[in-house]
Amino acid sequence: MKEGYMKALVFQGAKNFEVKEVPIPICTEEEILIKVHFAGVCGTDNRIYQGTKHIEAPRITGHEFSGVIAQIGAKVTGYQLGQRVSVYPMIHCGHCHCCRDGRTNICTNRITIGYELDGGFAQYVKIPKEAIACGNIVPIPDDVSDEIAAISEPITAAYHGIIQAKLRKQDVFVIVGAGPIGLFHTQLSKCVPLSKRIVVEPIEEKRKMALSMGADIVINPMTEDAKKIILDQTDGRGADAVIVDVGVPAVLEQSLEYVKKGGRLIIFAGMPVGSKINIDPNIIHYKEIVLTGSSSSSASHQAEVFRLLSSGKIGTEGMISACFPLEEWRKAFEMKNNYIGVKTIIDPWA
Ligand SMILES: [Zn+2]
Ligand SMILES: [Zn+2]
Repeated sequence: MKEGYMKALVFQGAKNFEVKEVPIPICTEEEILIKVHFAGVCGTDNRIYQGTKHIEAPRITGHEFSGVIAQIGAKVTGYQLGQRVSVYPMIHCGHCHCCRDGRTNICTNRITIGYELDGGFAQYVKIPKEAIACGNIVPIPDDVSDEIAAISEPITAAYHGIIQAKLRKQDVFVIVGAGPIGLFHTQLSKCVPLSKRIVVEPIEEKRKMALSMGADIVINPMTEDAKKIILDQTDGRGADAVIVDVGVPAVLEQSLEYVKKGGRLIIFAGMPVGSKINIDPNIIHYKEIVLTGSSSSSASHQAEVFRLLSSGKIGTEGMISACFPLEEWRKAFEMKNNYIGVKTIIDPWA
């Protein structure tokens, strides 16, 4: 490699990613340069590849990553060279009506490292001053590995979903879908003493994982009557809260039937752009069901997730299924595409 250059996976347009040698980003006096240890592959990276999530090209994607601080701008204080960190990738503006309401996760002017700015599928990533000002550089506790830290962002997003579910003691919580997020929801919901966690998932392997991660009951919606089982498990009431971790509108319509009167339905998964759902508004009206979403999260939640990981309140066994070098990004993306494993990470130095 030429002096001053690094390896990166560059998005060149839909269906066109390329591993290239590109200049190491120049860190100004207000910025920080991070040497990336590992970067997680997200469903969104796949949507960028497929062209269903539009971003400008060329761009280095990857919004889930861990590393060490390699360079600190002269005007930046509060960080040390060599410090192990993860970065909350979404930068909020601080002045829009959402930010003023304290809901920085839905900031109307948000930009994200890995979408609008170059991200972590590279050996180095530059953190702009706005991200530093937002407190987005989050130190990694000593007892949390670099690999797990690289997937702390999706766990953090899942954590926000748990907060949106407003779980209370003895609630019955239904998690629809046991992909990575559904499994994180299963784990994170253990922080609340619920009466039951029920996971609805068609793939047997994932149902097994959900059971090992704390699900009390798993349902195969292809062969079992999920609604009937959930009603049977709740004396006919329905679940207190249902979170939908599958981006399929029909699954969302079905999930509404699992919710009790006065219960809550949280749409965690993004759906294809332009999706429509067909529901009888009377269900919402007469049952007073609260229907809400969960989008993104915050750096403070990421720090909280690190505390939960560090205290062992959430386990990490089985969470990372494979690690690939940058050159094998296709394999990593295909695992995601084919719903294999939980999380896949990339080692840009391998
Ligand atoms: Zn992600
Ligand atoms: Zn804002």
